[in-house]
Amino acid sequence: MNLLSPEPFWPIRGGLPQTYPSLAGNASCEVAVLGAGISGALAAWHLAEAGVDVVVLDRREVAHGSTAGSTSLLQYEIDEPLHRLARRYGPVQAAYAYRRSLAAVTGLGKLVRRLRIDCEFVDRTSLLLASNDAHVPRLRREYEARARAGFDVEWWDRRRIIRGSTLPQPAAILSHGAGQLDAYRLTYGLLAAARRRGARIYDRTTVTGTRFHPRRVELRTAEGHCLRARHLVVATGYEVDAFLKIRMTELHSTFALISEPVAAFPGWPAARCLIWETADPYVYLRTTEDGRVLIGGYDEPFRDPVARDRLLGPKTARLQRRFRELLPRIPLQVAYAWAGTFAKTADGLPFIGRHPGVPHTWFALGYGGNGITYSFIAAELIRDQILGVARAEDDIFGFARSPGSPPGRLARRLKNVRF
Ligand SMILES: Cc1cc2nc3c(=O)[nH]c(=O)nc-3n(C[C@H](O)[C@H](O)[C@H](O)COP(=O)(O)OP(=O)(O)OC[C@H]3O[C@@H](n4cnc5c(N)ncnc54)[C@H](O)[C@@H]3O)c2cc1C
Repeated sequence: MNLLSPEPFWPIRGGLPQTYPSLAGNASCEVAVLGAGISGALAAWHLAEAGVDVVVLDRREVAHGSTAGSTSLLQYEIDEPLHRLARRYGPVQAAYAYRRSLAAVTGLGKLVRRLRIDCEFVDRTSLLLASNDAHVPRLRREYEARARAGFDVEWWDRRRIIRGSTLPQPAAILSHGAGQLDAYRLTYGLLAAARRRGARIYDRTTVTGTRFHPRRVELRTAEGHCLRARHLVVATGYEVDAFLKIRMTELHSTFALISEPVAAFPGWPAARCLIWETADPYVYLRTTEDGRVLIGGYDEPFRDPVARDRLLGPKTARLQRRFRELLPRIPLQVAYAWAGTFAKTADGLPFIGRHPGVPHTWFALGYGGNGITYSFIAAELIRDQILGVARAEDDIFGFARSPGSPPGRLARRLKNVRF
């Protein structure tokens, strides 16, 4: 699948920090992790740290799937607003999904600091703008739902927005507990750390077939080698069709650009917070540590890469126009622009864990705008499930999640879960 084109910024800037061999013979391990993007790297690190014997395989160079094009905003607020998620699953389960996402942003920051990975992780706040007056009432409902659930949020009315910003919107929610990073460099850093803990990593190794036996799984590579494992973690991002016959999500196209460094950020509020909005499709913005502006969005509901790439010019122009409406005092010169495939789920939540139709296998499918925080949640959950210490409350991220409030005892337990 053509995941990205033509010029995602991070691999151009970061080059190849490390090379890995391809698998040149048969091998065996306890857990095979298929895919060396941010999901596979986080899973490999968490498992290797727990003392598990891990082998990671990737058909491309590591981190050269979707991870290479990620704009890497870290937000606990997911594409499905909390008040709507609560209508679907009940307020307790919905708040649990949000709190677990918040814990993932914090957890990623702690992990980066602990492993000293140079990936420009920075704590940020996140500003969700009402795109127009008609969106204000439902944004207010969302603010109230988050405040009721105990999140650290501020309501910004028009007066507050014009104090220190050029944004034209009527209202916004400022959320504490967000962040940003370079997912490409983080992936390389995590894989290096996993390797120091004994993980074996092979890239440019395509898995072409799987065979399931009662107590193990065999992965066949295009070169005819075989990897035998007790468990398989599928972290193949949007290329999951070969492993999961049921389509869980629709694939879309998305667009991003990054500017040349700018001298200052006049009109950008809250110390260069992350910015996004309620419109669908929406636009989102962040800055980088070397003073660039990163803008993404204006998704299209198809994935055909030829049609997608044809739209790159017009979408880049549209993203620039939108930026000028929001922050007209910042001059913007586009340095790189790219388009990518992107998956959304109906409820904004990922698919993590086992699927009844596929033995010995755990899926780490962090679909949606919060792919990276979901990758972190997936790594923790899958490690715990493989080690036999799973939490029932995490079923909210699984294939069998179902609408409706959980019955009383589980609801009480979910409320009291601490991260
Ligand atoms: C433009 C864009 C902007 C984004 N912005 C954000 C954002 O701001 N915040 C956020 O949280 N998320 C964002 N995302 C989503 C996020 O980037 C993804 O969720 C994340 O990178 C997915 O990582 P992954 O490891 O699951 O998949 P990938 O990075 O695609 O890695 C999967 C790997 O599996 C390998 N593979 C697949 N099949 C096989 C096979 N048969 N054999 C061997 N290897 C195989 C591939 O080569 C690939 O390297 C964005 C995505 C895009 C495209």
